[in-house]
Amino acid sequence: MLAAVLHEAGPPDIFSFEELPIPEPAAGEVLVRVRATGVSYKDVVERNGTYRRDIIFPLVIGLEIAGDVTAVGAGVTRLRPGDRVCTKAFSSCGNCRYCRNGRETTCRQRRPVRGGYAQYTALPEDAFVPIPASLSYEIACMLGPGAGVALNAVRDTAHVEAGDTVLVTGATGGVGLPAVQIAKTAGARVLAVTRSAAKRDFLLEHGADEVIVAGDSEDFSRQVKPLTRDGEGVDVVIDTVGSVVFDAAFNSLAPHGRYAFVGQLNGDSIRINPARVFFKRAQLLGVGSVSRRQLEDVIAMTAVGHIRPQVARVMALRDLPEAHRLVEEGLVAGRIVIAP
Ligand SMILES: [Zn+2]
Repeated sequence: MLAAVLHEAGPPDIFSFEELPIPEPAAGEVLVRVRATGVSYKDVVERNGTYRRDIIFPLVIGLEIAGDVTAVGAGVTRLRPGDRVCTKAFSSCGNCRYCRNGRETTCRQRRPVRGGYAQYTALPEDAFVPIPASLSYEIACMLGPGAGVALNAVRDTAHVEAGDTVLVTGATGGVGLPAVQIAKTAGARVLAVTRSAAKRDFLLEHGADEVIVAGDSEDFSRQVKPLTRDGEGVDVVIDTVGSVVFDAAFNSLAPHGRYAFVGQLNGDSIRINPARVFFKRAQLLGVGSVSRRQLEDVIAMTAVGHIRPQVARVMALRDLPEAHRLVEEGLVAGRIVIAP
């Protein structure tokens, strides 16, 4: 099978295209013929060396996978050959106290999902959730690490309610865009932040009520606050960008606001005077990954049109260097999907 292998971190052309044997599914594992793999920003930071957790070379990355089950290892009970599936961001053990009370994303035995930049991948059964025939592989591949994490952030962590005003940073991204749509479905008014004026119409067409165009490290709270009730700010921030926008996004938060951290696109730290947190009675919330239930829910929400993931382009496996360059430079609205 053809695979794009990383032997070290580096620029987009660091991928080595190699013929590897099709993996054998071990006990508890499922072998999947990969039909579509989304190019996520996590792939970019794993490839360029910013993200180093659990990285051991040589490595085939790519966590947003959809495909067909072709074989199952011993002890696999939920899936069988022929099933159409997509991935969570991690697999977990299913038995520990975190897994047993719906907190499987913090399972001590969790393993990151990788391997989508190849024609086949073998992963633990728990990494996969079945998808209906009505959902294309190109859409399904991005639901777990994208819309599923957005559902975790908007519904289950920030507890967005009808009438809330919600600010989404990185709003055209893989988590940002479904966060806009889920918050809108929940009855919130959604303010979307992007650094590209060219993406304004795209965001308005996909659920945003207002679009704020702001350059890196610009204090966009001056644009946000006049758009909110009494100029006080937003009730919720869903921050998919991290330290680059933190000051501006925190300044945009109303008293008693909830600030959900979902992403961090570079390695920089933030600085904040703790008094600013308690004067504002702010809640700072960490959002971690996606559970099976959350992924099942976004699959159902996508099937009825509440979430409309956008495929920017479908590209071949050998086009990965170009795909990574486009994603790293923020030149696409919606997901680039690789069809290996
Ligand atoms: Zn567990």
